[in-house]
Amino acid sequence: MHGGNQMAKAVYRVMGTFSASHKMPGHSKCENLHGHNYTVEVFMTQPVLEESTLQVDLTELKASVREIIETFDHTHLNDILDFPSCEQIALSIIAQLHETGIYPSSVRVWETPVQWVEIYPE
Ligand SMILES: [Zn+2]
Repeated sequence: MHGGNQMAKAVYRVMGTFSASHKMPGHSKCENLHGHNYTVEVFMTQPVLEESTLQVDLTELKASVREIIETFDHTHLNDILDFPSCEQIALSIIAQLHETGIYPSSVRVWETPVQWVEIYPE
């Protein structure tokens, strides 16, 4: 490879799932009590170096993500978050990751198999 390779980036991703109930007053579809099977994806981005090894320990990251996600599993999200939207779930996960010294490039929360919200922290 020649010089330009230094600009290459690697994206590391781990996924997890949890099930929870919520209701969102004023929301057309989520107003009444119901549940979702959520999928969470945590992305880390790192430049690819000349002699790159695994720069993000995916096993460690997966364990940290699982630990956080388990606090949501089989809960009523309104008991945990003031407004349990995908955005607020993602922001909560980001805040908890930051507390453990993990700075994701983004966190994506799927509420159904066909829709998700992705938050890019500052
Ligand atoms: Zn809902």
